[in-house]
Amino acid sequence: MRFVIIGGDAAGMSAASRAKRRRSGMEVIVLEQTGDVSYSACGMPYNIADPQREIDDLIVRHPQVFREKQGIDLRTGHRVEVIDPVQNLVEGTALDGTAFRVPYDQLLIATGASPIIPDLPGFDLPGVMGLKSLDDGRRIKKFIADHHVKEAIIIGMGYIALEMCEALRARDIKVMMVKPRPVFLPWMQETLSGMVREEVETHGVSLHLGHEVEAIEETNSGFKVRCADLELEGQMVLVAIGVIPNSRLAENAGLELGVKKSIAVDRFLRTSNQYIYAAGDCADAYHVVTDQKTWIPLALRANRAGWAVADNVTGKEVALPGVAGTAVFKVFDLQVARTGLNVAEAQKAGFEPVEITIQARTRAHSHPGASTIGVEMVGDRKTGRLLGVQMVGKEGAAHRIDAPAVALHAGMTVAEFTQCDLAYAPPFSPVWDPMLTAANQLFKKL
Ligand SMILES: Cc1cc2nc3c(=O)[nH]c(=O)nc-3n(C[C@H](O)[C@H](O)[C@H](O)COP(=O)(O)OP(=O)(O)OC[C@H]3O[C@@H](n4cnc5c(N)ncnc54)[C@H](O)[C@@H]3O)c2cc1C
Repeated sequence: MRFVIIGGDAAGMSAASRAKRRRSGMEVIVLEQTGDVSYSACGMPYNIADPQREIDDLIVRHPQVFREKQGIDLRTGHRVEVIDPVQNLVEGTALDGTAFRVPYDQLLIATGASPIIPDLPGFDLPGVMGLKSLDDGRRIKKFIADHHVKEAIIIGMGYIALEMCEALRARDIKVMMVKPRPVFLPWMQETLSGMVREEVETHGVSLHLGHEVEAIEETNSGFKVRCADLELEGQMVLVAIGVIPNSRLAENAGLELGVKKSIAVDRFLRTSNQYIYAAGDCADAYHVVTDQKTWIPLALRANRAGWAVADNVTGKEVALPGVAGTAVFKVFDLQVARTGLNVAEAQKAGFEPVEITIQARTRAHSHPGASTIGVEMVGDRKTGRLLGVQMVGKEGAAHRIDAPAVALHAGMTVAEFTQCDLAYAPPFSPVWDPMLTAANQLFKKL
């Protein structure tokens, strides 16, 4: 049996490794368009922040390890251009220009996502860059070094944009951020997003909200980002306005698409073709709170989906329950975390959301070094169910979010969550953990 995988990062290599572990005799072929496989994209902003570190430090496992130690037929520099679901084969072109054609018994599409680059003047200039692949990371790092970048403009204010603004500030680069919408972190409760905004501005970053970028122009000293009523100048532009799923191959092969044009899969990660699976950022998933389809491109679910596909092609039936949308990022000294739904998402999904926002201490009253943690918790008036939590704080937000995330997977009510036995010791939390304080107050409002 021949298992062919398109894409060799989180989902693709997780699937390849596990399939080989479970069935060492299975022929596993991975076709990856770049020269890199199995690296930590998530680590790139932190690596870019440090000029002493090589970007290749982020490679988790080198191609020859997959080939020689694991027996995976890993073909880097192989770009797949066509999936033929009638003859069960894929076709493409290798980096040296030779065409290839590979038949499959089972196929996994693990092509990930690509940064959105608007079709506007100047977005194709060298020095105007997105950050997705390791090659992007290499390019950005080299550009900063070669051009002695002192001022950079970031288009977008999502989590990658914010991680990169911290990275560039660490390299003493002045950062200006611009985006068309007037609201900073629109998915986040206002008090909490205000805490994040203050943190970013305190670190010398200038935020320009409500400005639609019209063009990027070259100047004598670098680039000018032009909006109708604003011009920003710097030696480098980073475009970080989000990603789209790489689903074109699947669409052209006639496979069903789902949320935001991601590849539609069932809980077994099967596409609308019985011999083709899809996993990771290119595919959709079920949301554990709404039980509806969602598209949340994050690393853990890509790895987990890769494993599940490997199990399914090697005969162990695995269905995934779905995702809660748990996510966390750091910006300067703040941890920002979320799981589940915010009020708007809850309303859209048909719930009757009630929310509470509190500010609590991160450590016990008498313990030195405490700081403030902001928590927003959302519950459903009709059923009493916990629907989502957001959190911002200098400490304790990143891992605290895991408790409500588990509660969402378990379908707990807010009342049930108030009774959870959460850990306490003075250096780590008050006796009543901020999660429990928020839950107690939300319970009263429901
Ligand atoms: C800067 C940055 C920071 C991030 N931080 C976090 C974080 O903190 N936490 C988190 O959960 N997630 C984070 N992510 C997201 C996370 O990296 C992705 O969710 C994860 O990499 C998805 O894995 P994947 O295998 O689905 O796709 P990818 O990692 O995108 O891999 C897809 C692979 O498919 C290859 N490919 C695509 N098309 C073809 C083709 N036609 N032929 C052959 N090969 C093809 C690509 O070259 C690529 O190697 C971050 C991402 C970035 C860019």
